[in-house]
Amino acid sequence: MLVDFLKGSALALKHMGNFIIGKGNVTLEYPEVKREQPAFFRGRHRLQRYRDGLERCVGCSLCAAVCPSEAIYLEAAENTDENQVSAGERYAEIYQIHLLRCIFCGFCEEACPENAIVMGASYELAMNKRTDFIAEKDDMLDPAEKGFGDYHEYDPYISHVTPESDKSAKGDPWAVKAEH
Ligand code: SF4
Ligand code: SF4
Repeated sequence: MLVDFLKGSALALKHMGNFIIGKGNVTLEYPEVKREQPAFFRGRHRLQRYRDGLERCVGCSLCAAVCPSEAIYLEAAENTDENQVSAGERYAEIYQIHLLRCIFCGFCEEACPENAIVMGASYELAMNKRTDFIAEKDDMLDPAEKGFGDYHEYDPYISHVTPESDKSAKGDPWAVKAEH
């Protein structure tokens, strides 16, 4: 009994000591300090760009088709010589994700052939209005100056993507076939 008491007291003193020197704190001064998430974390979506600034999304709708919550709505439009938005023939003119429907399963990310949609690190989802939970394309799209590069370090699913694989993804597959 005395031994248990001493063990318990020692544990309490240890935690008190750690608290005093600030070691092992599990609380953060949120929102000033945000918790770092592991690489596999599935937070708010991001739409990525190629290094040259072109959008990766080609408006194919595979992400919307695979989404079990029917949370994605998009409308595609044709790229033109005057208005080249993405690396493909088409781009997503409208791209919305309903965050109240989304279950953050990551299927959209896995289905995307262009590594365009990825689950990011942000976990902040507090809004004042229901309509604010509809994330628009501009809410998710990487800024134009953030092309392929350091910005992608965080994403495990695209760590295999290199500038070389970007080049072949953007190449015309029929042209490659004709060469052989
Ligand atoms: S995010 Fe990917 S899967 Fe979805 S429409 Fe764009 S290219 Fe297709
Ligand atoms: S994470 Fe899942 S539920 Fe959310 S938009 Fe993507 S596929 Fe749909």
